[in-house]
Amino acid sequence: CGIVGYAGNPNTACGKPLEVCLQGLERLEYRGYDSAGVAETAPGMGHIVVRKKAGRLSNLVSSLEQQPLPPATVAIGHTRWATNGVPSDVNAHPHTSQDGNVALIHNGIIENASQLRLDLQAQGYRFSSATDTEVAAKLLGKIVDAVIEEKGHSDLFEAVQRLGRMLEGAFTILAIDSREPDVVVGARHDSPLVVGLGEGENFLGSDVAAFVAYTKQAMEIDQDQTVKVTADEVIVADFNGTIVEHPKTYTVDWD
Ligand code: GLU
Repeated sequence: CGIVGYAGNPNTACGKPLEVCLQGLERLEYRGYDSAGVAETAPGMGHIVVRKKAGRLSNLVSSLEQQPLPPATVAIGHTRWATNGVPSDVNAHPHTSQDGNVALIHNGIIENASQLRLDLQAQGYRFSSATDTEVAAKLLGKIVDAVIEEKGHSDLFEAVQRLGRMLEGAFTILAIDSREPDVVVGARHDSPLVVGLGEGENFLGSDVAAFVAYTKQAMEIDQDQTVKVTADEVIVADFNGTIVEHPKTYTVDWD
């Protein structure tokens, strides 16, 4: 339902990625939701950290206060409005790849999730939730592994493009990969995604409300486009990897 992402500088980001995500989720609360969660990573961490809770955002916040997460470079945050699977801690986003190196959040409904789930289960993938989103997460993990096999290194941007070609239905997706700890990748089809342009930091949101407290400079992501965001770079491409040369930017007219 609500989506936020943040990419900062590895030397200065520290607790900011999480703070940005939680503030952004708070600003998106007006849309309604039943659960909330975050995922983050940083150089040298070697894995993804996920925390997610059913119920109010305050449940997530108090869990994070009781057991704080380590400093991070990138983070993604989600408030869920359940469509596939009841509201619960397990069904809350982010969902992760089988090996835990990739985390994904999603707005919308993936129409071919049941078939994809059966295919993945037949290949030995195991699911812990009832959501369509976990199918996208497991599939993305599989695609990332295939890309690593082909190229010798992780390429989350290309992997998300391939994922975009395989999913049917409506989706805004954000993903992070522990092997590219300065990158957040987004994709959209029939569901909104906006980039917030900062100085030495960049933001993503399902709505400008997610980041308007930090920047009023925004970039529109069009239908069937993907975006790779780091602290100092934003690259937009279609699902086939063709780079979009001059993505439309604008100033958010909002106080
Ligand atoms: N279909 C997904 C789920 O049920 C995402 C729902 C949403 O947009 O929050 O978990």
